[in-house]
Amino acid sequence: MAELMKGAPVAAAITGQLIQRAERLKEQGVVPTLAIVRVGEKPDDLSYERGACKRCEKVGIAVKQFILPGEYQTQELLDVITQINEDPSIHGCLMFRPLSCKEDEEKVCALLSPAKDVDCITAGSLASVFAGSGEGFAPCTAQAVVALLEHYQVPLSGARVTVVGRSLVIGKPVSMMLQAKNATVTMCHTRTKDLPAECKRAEILVAAAGKAGVIGCEHVTKGQIVVDVGINVDAEGNLCGDVAGSAGDVVAAITPVPGGVGTVTTSILAQHVIEAAEKTI
Ligand code: NAP
Repeated sequence: MAELMKGAPVAAAITGQLIQRAERLKEQGVVPTLAIVRVGEKPDDLSYERGACKRCEKVGIAVKQFILPGEYQTQELLDVITQINEDPSIHGCLMFRPLSCKEDEEKVCALLSPAKDVDCITAGSLASVFAGSGEGFAPCTAQAVVALLEHYQVPLSGARVTVVGRSLVIGKPVSMMLQAKNATVTMCHTRTKDLPAECKRAEILVAAAGKAGVIGCEHVTKGQIVVDVGINVDAEGNLCGDVAGSAGDVVAAITPVPGGVGTVTTSILAQHVIEAAEKTI
């Protein structure tokens, strides 16, 4: 039976030290504040927003919500971002993506102040993740994967890692961040020739394809550490990851879905807001 690498202890450890940092900020007259920008009422966004608000409340971060209807004017959205950029009481901004209009999303990513970009949507933040310069904030989910592995003391230096997925939100940045920890990383995608073989030879497998059950028994081996980033809904309407239950039984350790990476992601978001607020002092 695989060890379950739950997100809750990781989130608790991160949150614990953030509460103290938030208190220190408040003693200096700064209330760490996150702006959340949401367009429409997508269930995924609403669910993440609830988790983010709960985490912020626990840490002592104020949240300002900017909610636009599904049918909005581009200028309305850009005005919200300008308002966030210009408001010194706001330290970080989380905008739910993807937007239905790709051009609008690009405009927002170009407009947001890099100092407030706590989820790595601007080109500058992404570039610093890729360059490994340590400037700017990494995407919260990608950083949550690294935090989870480090919390469970999984050796990364020299480890053979396979990442399934190459999106700018997860696959690519997590590959770069693990490489920066001296792992040897293979990135897979829909055109990978022999996905089972690429997955099987990894000591650490990161599944971020967004397809329920795409990682089956033929992709895993005994002794592997598996991080399941996927959040999907199965045929019965239940939340599930990318890794089939039968595959999870084979490996040494795996993150559950729900209760794994997603739980850590909001703690990393809170960490970024605190760091952004600290930089303003
Ligand atoms: P995405 O933009 O759709 O990217 C999916 C990637 O997986 C693509 O690179 C795609 O390859 C690859 N892929 C898809 N099916 C594949 C297959 N059968 N074999 C090999 N590669 C395959 O998704 P994303 O935004 O990166 O999100 C991935 C998953 O993470 C989703 O389930 C999402 O809900 C979840 N997520 C979790 C959190 C969290 O906090 N846990 C946060 C955000 C997202 P191509 O490039 O060739 O198309």
